[in-house]
Amino acid sequence: MQCPKCNSSMHEVEVETLQGKVVIDKCERCEGLWFDNGEAEQLKSDWMADFLDSGDPEIGKTYNAVRDIQCPRCGDVMQKINDAKQSHIEYEACAAHGVFMDAGEFTDYKHETLLDYFRGLIASLRRRT
Ligand SMILES: [Zn+2]
Ligand SMILES: [Zn+2]
Repeated sequence: MQCPKCNSSMHEVEVETLQGKVVIDKCERCEGLWFDNGEAEQLKSDWMADFLDSGDPEIGKTYNAVRDIQCPRCGDVMQKINDAKQSHIEYEACAAHGVFMDAGEFTDYKHETLLDYFRGLIASLRRRT
C-alpha cells in the first residue's frame, strides 16, 4: 500500500491486543498510520499500541497540512475529520475503509489530554444547569 500523503510505501505492523491481533499500516517516510475501520478504536485503549506511533510529531504536523488526500484502498477523496472528543486533532477518513493519522496524532488520540478532559467536564456541567 502507498502512503496517501507522501506516496512512499507503507509496511504492515502487527499489534497483539487483548482482543487479538490487529494489523495496521505505517509509512516508511512520514510515519503516518493507516487504520482500517474500527482498528483505531480497538487500539485506543490498548497499552500495547503505545509504541506504534513512533514518528516525530513535528514531521507529522508538516504533513497535517496535506489535507486533500485519497483513500489508499478505493482512491476516493478522504474527508477531513476533527475528532469528536478532541477537536484539535484533525485526521482524514474514508467512511468505507478507515482513517489516516499523521505521526503524533494517534498518541494524541489515545491520550485524551487533561485539557480535553476538563473541557468535557465543564461542558457536561453546563448541560446539567
Ligand atoms: Zn507517508
Ligand atoms: Zn476508501
